[in-house]
Amino acid sequence: MIQKSIRLFRLWGIPVELNLSWLFVLTLITWTFATRCYIPEIYPGRFLSYENWAVGFLTALLLFVSILLHEFSHALVASRNGLPIRKITLFMFGGVAHMEREVDNPTLELRMAAAGPLMTLLLAVLFHTVSFLSREMFYVSILFESLSRINVGVLIFNMVPGFPLDGGRILRAAIWRRTGNLQYATRIASRIGSGFAIVLIVMGFFLFIIYGQSISGLWLIFIGFFLKQAARSGYLMVAFKETLGHLHVSDIMRTGVVTTESSTSLRTLVDDYFLKYHFGSFPVMKDGEYVGIVTLKDVKRVEQDHWEKAAVEDVMDRSMAGLHLLPSDPAEKLFNLIVGMGIARVPVVDYSGNIIGIVTRRDLMEAIKVTTSIGQ
Ligand SMILES: [Zn+2]
Repeated sequence: MIQKSIRLFRLWGIPVELNLSWLFVLTLITWTFATRCYIPEIYPGRFLSYENWAVGFLTALLLFVSILLHEFSHALVASRNGLPIRKITLFMFGGVAHMEREVDNPTLELRMAAAGPLMTLLLAVLFHTVSFLSREMFYVSILFESLSRINVGVLIFNMVPGFPLDGGRILRAAIWRRTGNLQYATRIASRIGSGFAIVLIVMGFFLFIIYGQSISGLWLIFIGFFLKQAARSGYLMVAFKETLGHLHVSDIMRTGVVTTESSTSLRTLVDDYFLKYHFGSFPVMKDGEYVGIVTLKDVKRVEQDHWEKAAVEDVMDRSMAGLHLLPSDPAEKLFNLIVGMGIARVPVVDYSGNIIGIVTRRDLMEAIKVTTSIGQ
C-alpha cells in the first residue's frame, strides 16, 4: 500500500487526508465512465468525447464527496460520544476514520457502524431525486443517476456482514452485545469477512480469465486481498489486546541475539552464522552501532562464487536501521509495527544502544496463539 498521504482540509475539526493511491481511483473511474458508460451506442449523438471525460471526472469527484460524507457520519457519531477522531483518510478502496482509541461498548459500536451506510442510503435517494428533477438537463440528470447507482452499489457491498465492512461491524456489535465477548464476536465477523474476500478473489479470477474483463477482474482481486488482510489484522488486534495488551516488549522478545559485523564476508556469514545458529536473520553492527539487518534471502541475491568478496553491508537491509524498540515499550507498539506495517523483525535495543533482543513476526503470532488458546 502506498504510504504517502496529503493533508487536504479540516472539517468539523477533523483533518481530512488523501492517500495518493486515491489518484489512481480518480483516473480509473474517470476513464471507465468516459469510455464505457457514456458510450455513443446508448446515447447516440448526445456525448462528444471531451464531455464524456468531463462527466466522468465529475462523477469521480462527487463519489469522493459521497465517501467523505459516509466517513464523517461514522466520525461524528464517534466524537459526539466521547471518542475523538484523529483524522479521516481517503484511499484507493474507500475511506477510514482513525479513532484515538477503540470503542469499548457494543451499543456505541452499533450506532457508529450503522451511521455510514445510512448516509450512503440517504445520498443514493438524494442523487436519484436530483436526477429525476433535472431530467430536462441531460448531462446533469445522467451524472446524478450514475452517482445514485454507485452509492447503491457501495451500500450493498458495505452491508455484507463480514468484518471490517460496516455490515461486519454491525454483526460484531450485535454478537458482542449478546455474548459480552468481543474477541468471539470479532472472530465470527472476521471469518465471514475473510470468506467474502475469497469469493471476491475467485470472482475476480473468473472475470479476468474467462470473461476477459481484466480491469474489473483485477479490481475485485485487489479488493479481495485487501479485505482478507484487513479482516485478519482486525481480528489479531482484538485477540492481541485482550491477551497481550498489558505486556511489554521485554515479555515477548527473544534474547540471546547474535549480531554480525557489517564488514563480515558473506561466506563467513553463511558458514559461521546461518549454519551454526539456524537463525533466519542477524542484526548488523558497525562501530558498535546497529545499522541494519541481514537475512538469508539477502545473501541469496549474490552468486556463491562472489561470497568471499561481498560483505554483509553490500546486501543488508538498511531501511529499518532507525527502527527499534525498547524493552519497556508497550507490546502494542510492537504489534503495530509487525501487523500494522508488515515489518518482519524488529530488534530491541537498551538505552545505550546495545541490541539485547529481537522479535519476529513468528514470535508475536506464537505468543498470541498460546495466550488465546489458554484463554478459551
Ligand atoms: Zn463505513
